Order: sequence, then C-alpha cells, then structure tokens
Amino acid sequence: MEKTYCNSCNQELTDRKDRQPCPNCGSMSRNFQIDIQDTIEIHDLLNLKHKVPASNFKNKIAYESKIGSDYSRDKKRMVNLVQVIDRENDVYIKKITDPLTNEITRDVHEPLTKHTGRGSAKPKNSNPN
Ligand SMILES: [Zn+2]
Repeated sequence: MEKTYCNSCNQELTDRKDRQPCPNCGSMSRNFQIDIQDTIEIHDLLNLKHKVPASNFKNKIAYESKIGSDYSRDKKRMVNLVQVIDRENDVYIKKITDPLTNEITRDVHEPLTKHTGRGSAKPKNSNPN
C-alpha cells in the first residue's frame, strides 16, 4: 500500500495524481511511502519443567512439557509440537502436526520407560557442579 505525505509537515495527503499545495502548510513537496507487509511468523516453543528437588528423577525434573513450534529436520520447516514427559506417572506423549496440511506426522503415547528403554528413572547420585 502506497501512501503520500507532505514532505514539510508530514500531513498525509490524497492528491497523488493531481498534486495540490498541502492544505496544512502549502508545500508542494511530497514524501511517498510504500508499506511492505511481510508475513511475519512468530515461532515459540513453550518449555515447562516441574522440578522436584527431593526426587530421583533425571535432573530432578518430574514433569516436562513442550508446546509450540519446533524445527523439523525432515521437512526443513517449522511444525507444531506437543510433548509431555511425565516421570511421575511414566507417560510419554509426543504429537507433531504439520501446520500447513494439519497432518499428524507423529502421534506417540506410551510409557516413558518403554520410550527411553534405558531406565532413565534410576537414581542418579552425581551432583552437577
Ligand atoms: Zn504540509
């Protein structure tokens, strides 16, 4: 969208084709501006972590969720991600949908222990830093 302003007082004018003195200051000088509206997408990934200091969970995180946009290496663009790691209830959920096609490209809902397969719930006594 193209707009015309008076170059002296910045009054917005509508006399593009048939230029008249600015009604505000009488100037014939003009300043043309073109608004370029790009599609701006905001990609955010909300990462929630619930720590239980007295727990034996990995990094003391009992519950973790990620909701938002995540980069897909397969598709080389952003996809919608919902991921839940619930160590207290042994639940792993991962759902990926393609925002362009609304296609569900991944839908996992299984016990966390089955997902990791390495017993990540085992006690960890090492003290990070
Ligand atoms: Zn003016």
